[in-house]
Amino acid sequence: MQRSSHPTTIEPVFGYSIVPQGRRQPLFWGRAAWGLSSIAFLVGYLCFFADRGHCQTTDTLPNSSDSTLTTKQANFDGKDMLASRTQQANTKPLEFRTVSFRGKIVWLNEALKERYGISTVPEAAQRSLAILTDDGSLLPILDDSRGRSFRTDQRLREMQVELFVRQYSGQPMLQIIRVYELRESQKYEVDYWCDVCAIIMFETGLCACCQDDNRLRKRLVEK
Ligand SMILES: [Zn+2]
Repeated sequence: MQRSSHPTTIEPVFGYSIVPQGRRQPLFWGRAAWGLSSIAFLVGYLCFFADRGHCQTTDTLPNSSDSTLTTKQANFDGKDMLASRTQQANTKPLEFRTVSFRGKIVWLNEALKERYGISTVPEAAQRSLAILTDDGSLLPILDDSRGRSFRTDQRLREMQVELFVRQYSGQPMLQIIRVYELRESQKYEVDYWCDVCAIIMFETGLCACCQDDNRLRKRLVEK
């Protein structure tokens, strides 16, 4: 019997499946498998380095050599830097930063008219708030309970304030975390307080517990 006609002969040529010669698979499948493996490896390799590059560019914090650095950016504290470093380690994009802005809270429609000559529709009157910072920026305030407190209590809009805020990437609204009044070279933390229940609130009105009126509280921040 000739070797070539033996039904169980194994063909040793690279790329062939180990099959009886009588049912030999085309060379194409072996080469295709190796080709696909190589492509998969190459794609994985490129993605790995592309991702490394992405993290290094999107998570970069303002540095001291940046010509646009302001006093607000300089207010990053150590805890926030640590948080941002942790985010870098997790290769997640930076979602927000915490900064402080000094200025006065104004109605957005009035400030747009006064500073830029921009007219808004009547129903926009006294609807949205912004902080007009000491360096002339007009930054909108997010309308959560702390933001709303400036709408419902005129006393807050009369203060020279420092706002400690979150500034999220990709959207302009500032989310207020803490409010300080700046007066006579002193700084006071501002909130609302019930003397009976001893609880903090963020808006003027009734105590969430006893339903008596809360009071505006200002506590001196020691330097
Ligand atoms: Zn109470």
